[in-house]
Formats: sequence, C-alpha cells, structure tokens
Amino acid sequence: MAEKKPPFSKEQLMRIIEQHPTPFHIYHEEAIRANARKLLAAFGWAPAFKEYFAVKATPNPHILKILHEEGCGADCSSLPELILAEKSGIRGEDIIFTSNDTPANEFIKAKELGAVINLDDISHIDFLEKNAGIPELICFRYNPGPLREGGNAIIGSPEESKYGLTRKQLLDAYRIMRDKGAQRFGLHTMVISNELDPNYFIETANMMFDLVVEIFRTLKIRVEFVNFGGGIGIPYRPEQQAVDLDYLSRGLKESYDRKIVANGLHPLKLAMESGRMITGPYGYLVATVLHKKEIYKNYVGLDACMANLMRPGIYGAYHHITVMGKEDWPLGYIYDVTGSLCENNDKFAVNRKLPMVEIGDVMVIHDTGAHGYAMGFNYNGKLRSAELLLKADGSVEMIRRAETIEDYFATLNF
Ligand SMILES: *Cc1c(COP(=O)(O)O)cnc(C)c1O
Repeated sequence: MAEKKPPFSKEQLMRIIEQHPTPFHIYHEEAIRANARKLLAAFGWAPAFKEYFAVKATPNPHILKILHEEGCGADCSSLPELILAEKSGIRGEDIIFTSNDTPANEFIKAKELGAVINLDDISHIDFLEKNAGIPELICFRYNPGPLREGGNAIIGSPEESKYGLTRKQLLDAYRIMRDKGAQRFGLHTMVISNELDPNYFIETANMMFDLVVEIFRTLKIRVEFVNFGGGIGIPYRPEQQAVDLDYLSRGLKESYDRKIVANGLHPLKLAMESGRMITGPYGYLVATVLHKKEIYKNYVGLDACMANLMRPGIYGAYHHITVMGKEDWPLGYIYDVTGSLCENNDKFAVNRKLPMVEIGDVMVIHDTGAHGYAMGFNYNGKLRSAELLLKADGSVEMIRRAETIEDYFATLNF
C-alpha cells in the first residue's frame, strides 16, 4: 500500500496559497533528498554506483542542485537540458548525454562539457566524428529487439521501439570506435517504463552482464560501466507497492557476482538514469475547484488543466486526489475532475470516488513530481503554473514563477 498523504495540513496549505495562488506544483525537498539517499545506499555495494537523474522528469535547476548535493549526476537529451545541468553545477562525467535523432550542436555541447556521450545508433559514430570529434569515452545504447539468445520474454517488445543499436551493430560499433581511438567504453539500455516489478530490472541486468562478457570475449574490450537507464515505476495507485530497492539491489548483486565477478570483470561500474522514482511521489499539483456541473455525469472543474499535468489526458494515467480538509469524509460521490481546455481529454480523473466537493475546495493531485510540470504546453492559450519548493523548516521557495500573458506573446512576431 502506498500512503497518499500530502506533506502539509490544510492550514499550512492555505497559508501557502495566500502567498502563491493556485494552481502550482509543490515539491517536498526533504523527501526527495531522503529518497535519493535511499537509492544510493541500496547500491552501496556496486562499484562507483551513479544515479544520473533524468532531467526531463523535473527540469528545474533547484531540483538538479539538490540531487547533485546528494551525489546524483544528470541525464540530458537536448541542448537546453545540457545547459540546465551545466548551470546547476553538474560537470564532466557527472552528465550523461542519452539522446536520439540528435542534432550536431547537441553533440558539440556534450563533448565540450566532457559529458559521457551515449550513442543511439551506429550511424552516429560518423556524425559525431564529423561534428564534434571522437571522445575518449563512448557509450552505446543497446536495443535487445525480439529477444532471442541472452534476452527474455518479459521485458516488453523493444523491437517496436526506436531506440538503440541491435546486438550485431553494437559489437561492430565498439570495434569501430576503438579503431577510431576511443579508449573507454560504456553500455546502456532502457527497455521499460514505469515498471513496478523489480524482476524486470534483474532480468535486464542478466542480459546486460552477459553482453559485457561477450564484448570482452569477442573484442577484448573491457566495458567500464553499465547504465540501466530509467523506468523504475512508482505506485500511482494507493493499492500499488513501490519497488523494493533492497530486493532489486540484491538481485543485481547476485547477477553481478555470477556473471561479472566470476568472469574476472570486476570492477564494473553501475549506473541508472531514474527520473520518475526519484521525484515523482514528492511533487503535488495544487488546484482550486472553480465550478461544478451536473449533466449526464457530475463534473468538478479546477483552475488547473492539462497544461499543468498531461499524464491523465494522454495516457489515461491514474493520479490520486486528496480534497483538503475532507480526508476523513466518506467517498460518497463520483466525479470527473476536469480542466478548462476545449479538449475532452482534459480530465485529471474519470469516475473518481471523492467526498462531496464544493466550489472553493482545494484539491491536491499526487505524484506530479516527475513528468508533471515538465510535459506542460500552451494549447488553448493556457499558461504553465509556478513551481514551489517546500523546505525542511516548512518554508516555501518559489523556484519557477507562473507564466504570464507577456510570456505567451513573447515569441509572436506581430
Ligand atoms: C525518460 C528517460 C529516463 C527516465 O525515465 P523515468 O521513467 O523517469 O525513470 C531515463 N533515460 C532515458 C534515456 C529516458 O528516455
């Protein structure tokens, strides 16, 4: 069971709202720090374990700095994300550049920063060489495809995904890169998203460690690190269970000992690019009920919309909702909770059991700390909200202001 309890009382929240009108996202600093520490502690056994926080999940330098202080690096996939990492004080190999369909200027910037460059395709070797030159350290993203030998049946269908190199390309790519002068090599994959079963990640590790052994046997190249990407899920629904990181860690260690240590390839560094599991549960979208309407169904309309949180609209994703001050009321009513877009998918919840809702109630939408604000857009002329940071002493810092109409017009030429 995942407890869905906001980290503030209604009274505290009303005081915050006096200073910062709804809607806004608010992130719980202490919980994010504790969570990052927990992940790093779980993998304390792994040589030089590194978590590169996926910047796309929560692209705010305050969050990146907090995570950097806890020992995390940054996983970037665009020029602005690289600059965000740089401006947050994250440098060199604390940045991994995991991109795809990459423009030349992004490779140039990544090389300039000394970031670990993770190539998504064999053709990117020549593209990188021509535009930025061959770095000393290079990583390749593996796509296991239809999962024959060395794969398994449970990691989804990577052959439908646009990412990474095939097995044969991968072996060729390491050889080509070595011939071009690269001296250090990493291996990356990411084959799943928002997965709550730790065994998926253990199976992926088995596959990756086998591949490290194969690369050593066939090419005499010793891979320096394996990066498992992101994809660890979070319990969006109260009845779901968070991934047991200690179980996951034990499974990975067992595989590491059996495949890496036994083949004389220890130490092999391990890395992840988690986004969602780091910040997701510790962000909340706070909104006020503007309207109620009763037609064929009962609707509650908020002052937030899909511009603030896309996941329910585009994936039908569940986000838990707390009506502040009514936590103990019976869930006696069924509502669709909507935003104001002229787009019928603009709903935070469909057929949700809630306490009786009144105009002016404050709703807290849970688990918006990752892929929440970040996915926002300006459709229908809607403006993106502020982002707030709730600190350990209970104070609140605005870490991004809300967009204004001037921002909306800033790019228009007329
Ligand atoms: C999106 C992404 C991540 C982060 O995924 P989460 O689901 O947030 O953990 C990490 N690496 C790559 C390459 C990604 O595309």
